[in-house]
Amino acid sequence: MKYLKKWIMLQVDLDSFHARGAVYAFALKMTFRAVILAFLLNIVALPMFYWIGLTSMPVAEAILLSVAFSWLFGGAISGALAYVMGQVIRDLSLSRAEFRRLSRTDTLSGLLNRRAFAEALENAGTSASLAIFDLDRFKMINDSHGHSAGDEVIKTVSRAITTVFQAPHTVARLGGEEFGVIIQNSTSDNRLMQVEILRQVVEQQVMTVNGAALRTTISAGVAEFCPGRGADEVYSLADRALYLAKALGRNRVVHEREIPERMSQTRPATDLSPATDAA
Ligand code: GH3
Ligand code: MG
Ligand code: MG
Repeated sequence: MKYLKKWIMLQVDLDSFHARGAVYAFALKMTFRAVILAFLLNIVALPMFYWIGLTSMPVAEAILLSVAFSWLFGGAISGALAYVMGQVIRDLSLSRAEFRRLSRTDTLSGLLNRRAFAEALENAGTSASLAIFDLDRFKMINDSHGHSAGDEVIKTVSRAITTVFQAPHTVARLGGEEFGVIIQNSTSDNRLMQVEILRQVVEQQVMTVNGAALRTTISAGVAEFCPGRGADEVYSLADRALYLAKALGRNRVVHEREIPERMSQTRPATDLSPATDAA
């Protein structure tokens, strides 16, 4: 009975339901199951009906008829119903995927958000670096040119980051004017060099916002994923390195190895859960 129930029950993997073909495959599968089930029930029921006198038709003929009707009517009706059900499941799976995408996307920049980045940090592997970027003196842009100009600057810097860091790297806006990148592959020196390239790209960029030519710079803290180090520890080290970059005058990249020993006591460890500014 357990196996029969499992066989009849919908075995639906919502993620594989995005393609229209999945709906046809589902409808076909359900139709076959319905018809075969109806046929098996007929084989059991018809001899009993004959035996108790409910039908006078010979069992063999009745079964032949039932096969024909199972396919003609049962197949057509269950096929149509399964097709409609498949469409509903497909709509549900598409809206679920869209909801999931929105819940992981930062609306202003279109980058991944803090929540999605926290997930990515847990799966970063051991041959990767974490870079946290923060725009320098960003408040001044907001104060002198308005919040919407500040938003444009955030968007422009986001584009610069995604130009320098494409897949397989993971780029996110962590909140405010702070960004995170998980840099994959290569050597740690190469990864650090890419961060420095981004710093230079942003420094040289002139943005025209509401008719005004604006420039900005970024500070970055970089830490390494390595065996035995948790994501929280890597994040905390990158955050401390960023703090040091700010303290050293901004517009610079600081690697975790440059953090003096005594600083580990002065900078509180931050994790990804609260949306606080890094500096
Ligand atoms: P520092 O060099 O030390 O990082 O200085 P800062 O001025 O960049 O840093 P601070 O944290 O003091 O200011 C960040 C500002 O960013 C404060 C906040 O009003 C602004 N901000 C946060 N989110 C947004 C946003 O989505 N859009 C805009 N335009 N401003 C934002
Ligand atoms: Mg800032
Ligand atoms: Mg900040």
